[in-house]
Amino acid sequence: FGSQNNLTQNEKMWKLMQSYINNDKETIQQSIVNHVEYTLAKTRFDFSVFHAYQAISHSVRDRLIEAFNDTAQYFTHHDCKRVYYLSIEFLMGRYLQNALINLELEENYKEAVLELGYNLESVYEQEVDPALGNGGLGRLAACFLDSMATLNIPAWGYGIRYSYGIFRQLIKDGYQYEVPDYWLDNGNPWEIERLDVNYPIRFYGYVRKIHENGKEKSIWEGGELVLARAYDNPIPGYDTYNTINLRLWRSLPAREFDFNSFNQGDYFKALEEREKAEYITSVLYPNDSNYSGKELRLKQQYLLVCATIQDVIRRFKKKKRDWKELPEKIAVQLNDTHPAMAIVELLRVLIDHENLEIEFAWELVYRSFSYTNHTILPEALEKWGIDLLANLLPRHLEIVYLINFIFLEKVTKKFPNDLHRLSSLSIIEESNPKKIRMANLSIIGSHAVNGVAAIHSNLLTTTLFKDFYELRPKKFQNKTNGVTPRRWIRCCNVQLAQLYTEQLGGDTWVTDLTQVKCLENMVEDPEFQNNWQRIKRQNKEQLKWWVKENCGIDINLDSLFDVQVKRLHEYKRQFMNILYVIHRYLQIKKTTADQRYAKFLPRTIMFGGKAAPGYINAKRIIKLICSVADKVNTDSEVGDLLKIVYLPNYNVSNAQIIIPATELSQHISTAGLEASGTSNMKFVMNGSLIIGTMDGANVEIAEEVGKENMFIFGALVDDIEGLRNNMRNTDPSQYFPPELNEVFQKIDEGFFGAVDELRQLISTIRNRNDYYLIGADFKSYLEAQKKVDESYRNKKLWTKMSICNAIRSAKFSSDRTIQQYADEIWGVKAFQIPNPSQSAR
Ligand code: PLP
Repeated sequence: FGSQNNLTQNEKMWKLMQSYINNDKETIQQSIVNHVEYTLAKTRFDFSVFHAYQAISHSVRDRLIEAFNDTAQYFTHHDCKRVYYLSIEFLMGRYLQNALINLELEENYKEAVLELGYNLESVYEQEVDPALGNGGLGRLAACFLDSMATLNIPAWGYGIRYSYGIFRQLIKDGYQYEVPDYWLDNGNPWEIERLDVNYPIRFYGYVRKIHENGKEKSIWEGGELVLARAYDNPIPGYDTYNTINLRLWRSLPAREFDFNSFNQGDYFKALEEREKAEYITSVLYPNDSNYSGKELRLKQQYLLVCATIQDVIRRFKKKKRDWKELPEKIAVQLNDTHPAMAIVELLRVLIDHENLEIEFAWELVYRSFSYTNHTILPEALEKWGIDLLANLLPRHLEIVYLINFIFLEKVTKKFPNDLHRLSSLSIIEESNPKKIRMANLSIIGSHAVNGVAAIHSNLLTTTLFKDFYELRPKKFQNKTNGVTPRRWIRCCNVQLAQLYTEQLGGDTWVTDLTQVKCLENMVEDPEFQNNWQRIKRQNKEQLKWWVKENCGIDINLDSLFDVQVKRLHEYKRQFMNILYVIHRYLQIKKTTADQRYAKFLPRTIMFGGKAAPGYINAKRIIKLICSVADKVNTDSEVGDLLKIVYLPNYNVSNAQIIIPATELSQHISTAGLEASGTSNMKFVMNGSLIIGTMDGANVEIAEEVGKENMFIFGALVDDIEGLRNNMRNTDPSQYFPPELNEVFQKIDEGFFGAVDELRQLISTIRNRNDYYLIGADFKSYLEAQKKVDESYRNKKLWTKMSICNAIRSAKFSSDRTIQQYADEIWGVKAFQIPNPSQSAR
């Protein structure tokens, strides 16, 4: 484009770009076919449904990019305050269906694609799940992006583009096998690689002190140099033209060569160093709620933070303005402590590079940042060894000490001579070796700190962060999590969505879920109840088919579908669930054949979830579930009264099939340990009843849907300490209820095989070591299960309860959550772009 007529040509180009792609059937078809020919270079002789998926996705991507570019320009033009949502994980799930629904183009594409010989639903199945997250935390970030786009908030997500997402789980002979997930094998049509957006990232090196204008100044001479390259993933809002961005960083070797190695003839050594750079963002750490402490993980965190802060500052500086405007122009949200080094990095740039005074710079940082805590589990709280930090990021360690010094001085003024308080508030843990507490750093460096459900936020201020709360009570807030009704109703439960739209006379409920509450007068309406049951049954059929396909097991459509899907963790107590299943099985066996069907309701009990590869007890629980399944499913006396299924490789796209088909879902963590949970919200939205403890968001779900519509059991959070003491002081044979002792005995006898392994598993909770209180909660769990059976026998009652759950779930839309973040933490307003082609959409 660089000829003499530059100006005229450019104007022509930009003018041409102002026209928009039409969305009529013929234009869509032509765009798909163009991609088949020009993007994929395919012919009719080597074309498959996967190629159809690719071409269709490229055609949708074109439409996304239009809106994405316009949105970015609009935000820049209006100089809006921006939200930056920093998260080490984004568990996005498949894009295609979600994009079509948010763009309101699903019907157009369905028709267009059908004429080309493809069924859109089968095309959806071709997409691999981008699974750059472990579970709740990463999925929350994904739901938040959808809500931020839909609410027209000028926000961007920042994360890491791992080459390997969470491993694929295979279950073989009852054991979990982990297979690497190279999700980029066939390319990724949803991302835009920014060849021109690369930021330098340094590690190691040393700090040099110089004197300038009578002051000491620190200069970090970084060692290893890598580049972070941007990959943009457009995120369309629903019922709006706004399309925001998820910018993911990938590490690459810097272009500079290590000439030393080359000159010394060690050509391969020099290349090896370059390969190492790529390795940084290669793999997602597969631990959920468990901190790993590895140098590579810290490198990942720093790469995310350093590249993001450079990008944020570059954007801020596009306009000439004073630094004091920074907190009016940016709000940085830390999704847990993994990106907390951003606090230190921004401060470093402001004082070392921009030469701001420390007090002024600190004020800007502190007012710009806010932090979300996700757990109080001690094993999940990040603490980095001082030595590791001193080596990898020496200047950052100095700054951490500086922040800590200034902070502790203020504390001393308010609470003189309170050493105990000082040591609990300090960023440095005086252990051997010393450690940096990332949660303390995050609280000190943020103007707002929030928990993710009311009970969790209360626990933060009364236990884990009590001393911080006493210092600055106003800093602490609650923001109960939410999930997006687009993916979790509109996409995954199309029939329910249709029913809502018909009943409410339109589909505005998709962005205002409070509207479904208007169906309150229908809960006992026979026709509505029939429709409700029909939809659940169709969803059950779909899951039945999935189970047959993936597990080879035939399940009974008339049985109660009882599901516990979530990461395997002792605190989530899948163990208690399977112990109950064994008890139920033993009861069935004790009943005479002629009585069995009268006494027991048919149940299909499904489990799913990945165990962290090094988490031995979690893996033993999977083994126990599978061993019990083997025994029970082949016991002809039991027939279809009881079936147990392990659903392999639980992920977002499986969740979209499992959740709408579920009738009873289990959220049974020890009270106080599940910060919020988000799958509980998804199940409720899809009319599943919950059997659960008073933990996390279950507490607020009970407030919304009514306790009478749930099966609540177990100790309350205030009882836990007493129960643990009681457990330690009681004889183990007295402590466990007889039903549970009977179950232990069967396992001990080798009734389910794998004797050594399963004995080791039960020995973890015997001998006064039942930290998660399965023994204490088992009796009330049995009672709750009994109530489940009674209620399910009454179909009308069950249907009514199911409807009440779904239509009272509006609070758990992430639109509500994000609006609260925007108003109460970020201080940002919505900016909606006028839709330039209203008529075509
Ligand atoms: N994993 C996946 C794939 C999910 O979709 C969800 C949904 O919220 C979770 C994990 C989190 O589940 P829970 O809230 O039950 O821990």
